[in-house]
Amino acid sequence: MRLVIKYGGTSISTAKNIQDISSNLNELSKKNQIVVVCSATSGTTDDLIEISESINKENKSKAEQLASKITNRHKQLAKQTIKKSDIRKKLLLKYDEDFAELVALIDGMVLLGEVTPRTMDYLFSFGERLSIKLVSSAINDSGIKSIPFTGKEVGIVTDSNFSESKPLMDTTRLRVSKTIDAQLSKKIIPVVGGFVGADQHGHVTTFGRGGSDYSATIVGSCIKADEIWLMSDVDGLMTADPKIVKNAKLLKEVSYIEAIEMALFGAKQIHPRTFEPLLAKKIPMKIRNSFNTKNEGTLVSASTSSAVKNKIKCVSYVQNNGLIDVQGGSMVGTPGTAAKIFATLAKAGINVMMISQNPSESSITIVVKNADLDKAVSVLEMELLGKIIKKLDVTTNVAIIALIGSGMRGTIGVAAKVFGAIEKNKINVSMITQGSSELNLAFVVKNSDTNASIRALHDEFTLDKIN
Ligand code: ASP
Ligand code: MG
Repeated sequence: MRLVIKYGGTSISTAKNIQDISSNLNELSKKNQIVVVCSATSGTTDDLIEISESINKENKSKAEQLASKITNRHKQLAKQTIKKSDIRKKLLLKYDEDFAELVALIDGMVLLGEVTPRTMDYLFSFGERLSIKLVSSAINDSGIKSIPFTGKEVGIVTDSNFSESKPLMDTTRLRVSKTIDAQLSKKIIPVVGGFVGADQHGHVTTFGRGGSDYSATIVGSCIKADEIWLMSDVDGLMTADPKIVKNAKLLKEVSYIEAIEMALFGAKQIHPRTFEPLLAKKIPMKIRNSFNTKNEGTLVSASTSSAVKNKIKCVSYVQNNGLIDVQGGSMVGTPGTAAKIFATLAKAGINVMMISQNPSESSITIVVKNADLDKAVSVLEMELLGKIIKKLDVTTNVAIIALIGSGMRGTIGVAAKVFGAIEKNKINVSMITQGSSELNLAFVVKNSDTNASIRALHDEFTLDKIN
């Protein structure tokens, strides 16, 4: 099989983990062609982000302090992980070059006072630049040939939308398949840095936080992989948060469209675009635990087996949101009201998580993150109050509860069961949405009602019996 195996930061953050992974890859490579994709080691991207914030605040010494923290972390890991001294020495020398460049970059950014999306992407790309060398050296150390490639080196070409770039798939496919095929035919394991690509001018770009998942599926689709495995520190997707529901179960199978709905929630956050490259080629993906490789994890594919096809899969939540109820008599029958409200929020850079409007058109309810709430309310007041809006009602600290699964599609009585179960727990629901795809039924309750709501639904739909 041709496998793309992606490791998240927590899976490659101690010497023991990296050695275990290397021997696991060594074993797997006897029967399979393997391409590895890596995130940065735990905390490194956060440190790089803090460096950019420190430069913004003109705090050069803090930035330099963080750079040496990153340096020391990787040198330490290199020394602990790599046993053969020639491989270790080579790695440490390469690290010296990277660190010199990192320090020079920080100097340059401080000197120019320039923290632009473009320089930030270049700065943030250091996390994966360092991790791939470590993992690749560890694979070498275990006795198989391996070469590290940054996203740019492997041939991922993107648009120039720094910090949120998208791949130009046709060019990318040509370049990535050429680079990777050349390695695989020589029995070399390529270790590709996630999260990063380069635009057509060669400027380093990133896909946004968590973007290594996306890199894995981009690479997988370019090389026609048979499977893509996302390895992290959780066993897979679950029917509910096991911290809330004791008998929550691992989901053995979900479909792409269900996984897309679930990506936003839960313990394994997946970059929202991750599934895009898989849809056309229908490449199966497994979400697995690198610390528990006996467990097969969750299989995500175009269509699940008939046993779980028409089932509700999970109940998820997102806490700490704010709800804004926008009211006004002149909103009724006035085309363009919603456009004005959402354009105002969009201009202020506010992401809207949930929307509902009743047919009387006298109010529109919106959910945003608590952190965006103040800004959202103030721009709406400034621009629209007294015009199309008469009144804004705000509730903070609410949770979105979402029931997800293709089992809701065309099934009569799901809503009745949901709200019946919620009512029995005397929980007040302040907003409800369901898209016409019927994959996701979501409603809003107080933060403090989260656990009771989740447990009630998990019981009502007997999700512990899913598999
Ligand atoms: N290192 C990047 C981040 O922490 C990308 C990733 O981990 O997927 O967001
Ligand atoms: Mg990550």
